[in-house]
Amino acid sequence: GLDWNSLVAFDNVAAGHDGVMSDASGSLIIKPCVAAEVQFYEVSNAEHPEFAQLMPTFMGSLQHEANNPLRGKKLDTGLAIVLENVLAGFQKPNFVDVKLGKRLWADDAPLSKRNKLDDVASQTTSGSLGFRIAGMKVWQPEGSGEYKVFDKFYGRTLTSDNVRNAFSTFLCVDQKTETSDIVEDVISNIEEAVGAIEQIIAKQESRMYSASLLFVYEGDPQARKEALDSAVTQTEQSRHSDDRRQEGENVAEDEDDEEDEQAEPKLFDIKLIDFAHAEWTPGQGPDENMLMGIRNVRRVLRDLMKEVSHE
Ligand code: ADP
Ligand code: MN
Repeated sequence: GLDWNSLVAFDNVAAGHDGVMSDASGSLIIKPCVAAEVQFYEVSNAEHPEFAQLMPTFMGSLQHEANNPLRGKKLDTGLAIVLENVLAGFQKPNFVDVKLGKRLWADDAPLSKRNKLDDVASQTTSGSLGFRIAGMKVWQPEGSGEYKVFDKFYGRTLTSDNVRNAFSTFLCVDQKTETSDIVEDVISNIEEAVGAIEQIIAKQESRMYSASLLFVYEGDPQARKEALDSAVTQTEQSRHSDDRRQEGENVAEDEDDEEDEQAEPKLFDIKLIDFAHAEWTPGQGPDENMLMGIRNVRRVLRDLMKEVSHE
C-alpha cells in the first residue's frame, strides 16, 4: 500500500501548484487536488472508458489528516489524487504542459478570475491558438547533465509565428541526434496521436477549462535510439505477422509469448491532465474551446514537420 512516510517531493513538474509528491518507486504521483477532480476521474472511468484512456491511470484518492507532509502547501484541500506518473518508464523524460483553451475559467469562477485569465489569454497564444505552453523541461545531454527549465513566462512570450520552436526544443530537433527523415517520422506519429485524442474529445459532451496535454519525449539520446530501433522492429514484426495472417496462418500464439517480455523502451507519451474545472455536460455537444486548441497543436506540429523537411 501507499505509506505517507515513504512519499518524496516530486519536482519533475512543468507547471501548476506546489506540493506534488511521488511514491518511492516513482511510478505514482500524489497531487493535492479539489474534490471535483477526483469526481471527474471517477465518473470518466466508470462511464467514459474511451476518454479515460487519455488520462493518467487513476489509482484513487487520499484524504489526509493534519500534520502530514502535504498540509500547509498552496492547494490545501486535505485531499490528494493518486495517479500513474506519466514520466515513469523514460530515462530522461522531456515534458511540456500545453494548457488548452482560449477560455480558461469555468462557469463558477468569480469575475476577477475571469478577467485575469482573459487578460493572459489575450496576450498569449491561448487567445490566438487556443493553447499555450504552460511550462517545459528539456534534458541537456551535453555538458551539464541537467534539465533546462522553461517556466510559464517563457510560454507567455511565444506567438503563433514562433510557438513551434517550443516543440522543436522539446523534440531535440536542434540536437541533430537523428536524421531529418526520422525526426519527420516522429513528429508525424505525435501529430497522429494528437489527432486520435481530438477524435475522442470531438465525440464527448464535456467541458474542461485549464486542462492540459502533457507531452513526454525521451530526452536521453541513447535511450531514444533504443526506443526508435525497437519501434522499427515492432513495425517490421507486425507487418510480418500481417503477411502471415493473410496467408491464413494462426499467429496469435507467437504474439502472446511476447507479453511476458520486458516493457518496450518508450519514445513518447501524451496524456490529458488537470481536471479541477472539468465536468460531463450531456446535451451540450462537443467542447469546441478544447478542440480549437488541440487542432492548432496539430497544425503547429505539421508546420514543424514542413520546416524540418526543408532543412
Ligand atoms: P495544477 O492544478 O497544479 O496545474 P496539474 O494537474 O496541471 O495541476 O499538475 C501540475 C504539474 O504536475 C503538471 O504541469 C505536470 O508537469 C505534473 N503532472 C501532473 N499530473 C502528472 C502525472 N500523472 N504524471 C506526471 N506528471 C504529472
Ligand atoms: Mn495545470
